[in-house]
Amino acid sequence: MEPNICMSRRQFVGTAAALGLSAVAAGCGLKLPFELFGRPSSVKKVNGLEYRTLGKTGLEVALLGLGGFHFIERDAALTKQIVSRYIELGGNYVETAYSYGNGDSEIKVGAALQGLRDKVVLATKVGARDKAGAAKLLETSLANLKTDHIDIWFMHAVQSPQELDQLLADDGAIMAAEEARAAGKVRFIGISGHGWADVLLDGLKRYPFDVVMHNFNYLDRFNFPSSEQELLPYAVEHEIGIVGMKAVGDGLLYRSPEPALRYTFGLPLSTMVAGMNTLEFLDGDMAVAKNYQPMSAAEQERLFADAPELGNYVCRQCGKCLPNERNVPIPTIFQLEGMLDRQMIDITNRDAAETNLRYQLAYWFALGDVAKERYAALAVNKDDFASCAAVEPNCPYKLPIVRKLEYVDAKMTA
Ligand code: SF4
Repeated sequence: MEPNICMSRRQFVGTAAALGLSAVAAGCGLKLPFELFGRPSSVKKVNGLEYRTLGKTGLEVALLGLGGFHFIERDAALTKQIVSRYIELGGNYVETAYSYGNGDSEIKVGAALQGLRDKVVLATKVGARDKAGAAKLLETSLANLKTDHIDIWFMHAVQSPQELDQLLADDGAIMAAEEARAAGKVRFIGISGHGWADVLLDGLKRYPFDVVMHNFNYLDRFNFPSSEQELLPYAVEHEIGIVGMKAVGDGLLYRSPEPALRYTFGLPLSTMVAGMNTLEFLDGDMAVAKNYQPMSAAEQERLFADAPELGNYVCRQCGKCLPNERNVPIPTIFQLEGMLDRQMIDITNRDAAETNLRYQLAYWFALGDVAKERYAALAVNKDDFASCAAVEPNCPYKLPIVRKLEYVDAKMTA
């Protein structure tokens, strides 16, 4: 009965919004990226590599950016080879962070960029939330990178409302950034975060950041729907530059680099940073970037349906299990599971290597306590789960809804 369906979906949207989750995801399905934004446009090509404008900064950046985290696993000589080759192949966006090995990555990148500094947009990040601590770390970063200015200085990994409050306070890191910008040591100020986009969105609304950096991939699209459905539209509307990271989900999508990169290139970001710490990785990712063709709607739907990493376990937030007899908010519960462990800890027996990888990545964003609090606030009745068997045939992805609900409840209440 249609009125009943609408009423039920409104209830679920309200429940999700009250929990700070994606209201779009709660009952009506997620929109495809190009339905929200249209197709991103390029400004030019360099050696066959697309460049896009980074929001209001006006910087023109290569679609494939070079991430610095994994240089801590390589020596200075190989880092130099990779950085040089990346630039030769047409790249111009190089990023690192002080916290990557307490300056180790910055030192290697700085050495690699000698004689090449003016060919790249150089970004680094600061984890200190107070003004004095951030100002001190900036001097260290400038020395490590052997440069007199950073193009984009990110407030690094802002994960909680408390951290955001601290850095935006009168004695917060943002004041160090503003003074550094006035002194010509920093050109643009950014904010970065993982997993939970709500804090970043709040940050963009409270302070005129030039650039935002966040994780985007076809797995976390379903774990953290607000990233694509709310953060990106806000950034696009306000012309805030968007830098993507974690196209391969920190490694879980490692068997699928081509569709993983291709999917993210279709988002309205200007550059997707990838951690390429061998020449082979660099050549492979660069080939995907240079051959990039946008995915059609049908291709995107096929990817979501067939991706082996999503299988018949990851909830695609389509809402087709709503309404149900006992009003169990199934997509909302599975969205909270995404927040808890990215739906990586599932009910499949796997080999030891795959299991270890999943346990390494599942809790990377450390949002377990928040997820558990929100799950408790839902006050679901476990006795209602069995009734969801009636809507299992509605699930286009053949999720074992009842079994998954019981498994999630066990994880949330452990
Ligand atoms: S459980 Fe299945 S039907 Fe329900 S929202 Fe998730 S993917 Fe869609």
